[in-house]
Amino acid sequence: MSRKVRIDEGECIGCGSCADLCPDVFELNHEIEKAFVIKPEGGDEECILDAMGECPMSCIFWD
Ligand code: SF4
Repeated sequence: MSRKVRIDEGECIGCGSCADLCPDVFELNHEIEKAFVIKPEGGDEECILDAMGECPMSCIFWD
Protein backbone atom coordinates (compact mmCIF):
# COMPACT_ATOMS: atom_id res chain seq x y z
CA MET A 1 0.00 0.00 0.00
CA SER A 2 1.43 3.38 -0.89
CA ARG A 3 1.81 6.12 1.65
CA LYS A 4 -0.37 9.19 1.70
CA VAL A 5 0.50 12.65 2.91
CA ARG A 6 -2.05 14.20 5.23
CA ILE A 7 -2.39 17.12 7.62
CA ASP A 8 -4.29 17.09 10.89
CA GLU A 9 -6.17 20.29 10.17
CA GLY A 10 -7.34 20.60 13.75
CA GLU A 11 -3.74 21.10 14.81
CA CYS A 12 -2.52 23.23 11.88
CA ILE A 13 -1.91 26.88 12.80
CA GLY A 14 -1.53 28.04 9.22
CA CYS A 15 2.09 29.14 9.51
CA GLY A 16 2.65 28.35 5.84
CA SER A 17 6.00 26.68 6.33
CA CYS A 18 5.00 23.46 4.57
CA ALA A 19 3.67 25.34 1.54
CA ASP A 20 6.86 27.42 1.37
CA LEU A 21 9.11 24.39 1.57
CA CYS A 22 7.12 22.06 -0.62
CA PRO A 23 4.64 23.94 -2.80
CA ASP A 24 4.07 20.94 -5.07
CA VAL A 25 2.45 19.04 -2.21
CA PHE A 26 1.09 21.63 0.24
CA GLU A 27 -0.95 24.76 -0.20
CA LEU A 28 -2.06 27.30 2.38
CA ASN A 29 -5.68 28.38 2.42
CA HIS A 30 -5.29 31.99 3.52
CA GLU A 31 -8.98 32.43 4.26
CA ILE A 32 -9.16 29.72 6.89
CA GLU A 33 -5.43 29.78 7.70
CA LYS A 34 -5.02 26.05 7.30
CA ALA A 35 -2.75 24.16 5.00
CA PHE A 36 -4.02 21.34 2.88
CA VAL A 37 -2.46 18.63 0.78
CA ILE A 38 -2.79 19.11 -2.95
CA LYS A 39 -0.87 15.98 -3.81
CA PRO A 40 -1.59 13.21 -1.27
CA GLU A 41 0.40 10.67 -3.26
CA GLY A 42 3.46 12.71 -2.34
CA GLY A 43 6.31 14.10 -4.35
CA ASP A 44 9.91 14.87 -3.65
CA GLU A 45 10.66 12.84 -0.54
CA GLU A 46 13.28 15.17 0.85
CA CYS A 47 11.03 18.18 0.66
CA ILE A 48 8.14 16.35 2.33
CA LEU A 49 10.44 15.21 5.14
CA ASP A 50 11.73 18.79 5.48
CA ALA A 51 8.17 20.09 5.71
CA MET A 52 7.33 17.46 8.36
CA GLY A 53 10.45 18.36 10.33
CA GLU A 54 9.77 22.09 10.19
CA CYS A 55 6.05 21.95 11.01
CA PRO A 56 5.76 23.63 14.42
CA MET A 57 2.72 21.51 15.32
CA SER A 58 4.08 18.20 13.99
CA CYS A 59 0.75 17.74 12.28
CA ILE A 60 1.95 16.46 8.91
CA PHE A 61 1.81 12.71 8.51
CA TRP A 62 3.04 10.49 5.75
CA ASP A 63 1.94 6.94 6.38
S1 SF4 B 1 3.80 23.64 8.62
FE1 SF4 B 1 2.29 22.58 9.90
S2 SF4 B 1 1.27 24.19 11.08
FE2 SF4 B 1 2.36 25.19 9.41
S3 SF4 B 1 0.82 25.39 7.78
FE3 SF4 B 1 1.92 23.47 7.43
S4 SF4 B 1 0.71 21.88 8.46
FE4 SF4 B 1 0.06 23.87 9.26
